Amino acid sequence: MRLRNWILPALALCVGLGTYFSASPAAEGFSTIGGTLSLSQRDFRVYNNFLDGTANNNTTDDPNFPGYHGAVMAIWKASIEWGSELHGDGDGDPSQFGDLGSGGANFDPSFQGLATGVGGTNDNIHSALDGCDGGTLAFTETPISNGWRIRYYECWTWDDGPGTSIGFREDIQSVACHEYGHALGLGHTSSTGATMTAFSNGGTTDRSIASDDIAGVQFLYGVKSATKPRIDDTLVVGFNLTINGANFSATGNEVWFTQATAGGNGTPIKVTNVPSSGSQINVLIPAAAGPGDILVRNNGNGFANLSNAYPFDPEIQGCPVPTTYCVAAPNSTGLGAEIGYLGTASVSAEDLQLTIVNAPANQFGVFFYGPNATQSPFGQGFLCAGAGATGLFRIKPPVQISFLGTLSFNLDYDLPPMDAGQGMIEPGDLWHFQFWYRDPGNGFNLSNGLRVEFCP
Ligand SMILES: [Zn+2]
Repeated sequence: MRLRNWILPALALCVGLGTYFSASPAAEGFSTIGGTLSLSQRDFRVYNNFLDGTANNNTTDDPNFPGYHGAVMAIWKASIEWGSELHGDGDGDPSQFGDLGSGGANFDPSFQGLATGVGGTNDNIHSALDGCDGGTLAFTETPISNGWRIRYYECWTWDDGPGTSIGFREDIQSVACHEYGHALGLGHTSSTGATMTAFSNGGTTDRSIASDDIAGVQFLYGVKSATKPRIDDTLVVGFNLTINGANFSATGNEVWFTQATAGGNGTPIKVTNVPSSGSQINVLIPAAAGPGDILVRNNGNGFANLSNAYPFDPEIQGCPVPTTYCVAAPNSTGLGAEIGYLGTASVSAEDLQLTIVNAPANQFGVFFYGPNATQSPFGQGFLCAGAGATGLFRIKPPVQISFLGTLSFNLDYDLPPMDAGQGMIEPGDLWHFQFWYRDPGNGFNLSNGLRVEFCP
């Protein structure tokens, strides 16, 4: 198959764009096809119908490209190379280690996961296509302002990398990087070594955009503005996402997430009207958001109002740390019985233990929980777990305090009342736990409260 290379200077990366291009550029340098991709068309999806085994045999997780492998990850990397900032720490492509995200323009793509079909010619979907067209590897349909579609001919043998030794196969990431350059408005260049040259010498070299390609994207979208929002890092705790960066608006920001499930129409999952300190944003992660990238659009609508794309993985979550509150009133030991915990608030890990210290030795007591926090006199102490609309839930059976006045108790979410009904403990729930105990000669007393926000 590669014999073609001896006939042609190299494989044609694409055809079918003739009407969009000026004829061969007279001078060295990028060309444009007349327009730019609007801010509402930053999304891209992949319909992963590549048939070659080598197109989807990269199954290694990459923290900068969470949740996806194979051809999808290769196309994601290809697109993100045009972004304004290093993507995460820039790792992910061995041919440009630590340098992925090279555009430096007011342009950043929004990865929107999987499509369920090839889509229309403006649906911003990558997919394979049966057959062949001479030496053409792939092509981009109807690029510019309202979207595009990219097709890869199946007659070639495609490889998803990520290594740089792909034999006589065609590198999905390289070709995708070139075709996406068309999608964002670039034609072919005569600049040797650029990704946007019309012919590929094969291999993986086009994965990394060159200075001429960078000049092209900066010409179209403007050199990255000093006021462009920027995401520097993120922190996920439970369902809360903290975004640290710069140039966020005081009000009216949008946080764009990658859709969790295949399909949709490419529109990012958005949280809107988000306030910020200018350098920090806090949002609740939407249920429809999955692993992918996040972007922040501040309260403007220009190209320079959308941030870089930053890797986001909702699966990597630290569970919120349980916290104590309310009052542990003194008992016959002279101290108050303090509630605590071991383990985590992860429902799937099921490793949370409730602990008690400073309780009267050898007495019996009961753990219970409720939806609300409260503090009202009860027995010799205070009620800290509030009933709310659902009431309080008692965890059976009663448990005995040790001769040291201590106790630890494993929560089993498969047992009543935690397994079903109104007391069911599920990810995202906030519950307030407390311990009721007998105190000889003093009736009964209670520990302070433990506030637990459960995570997956
Ligand atoms: Zn091309």
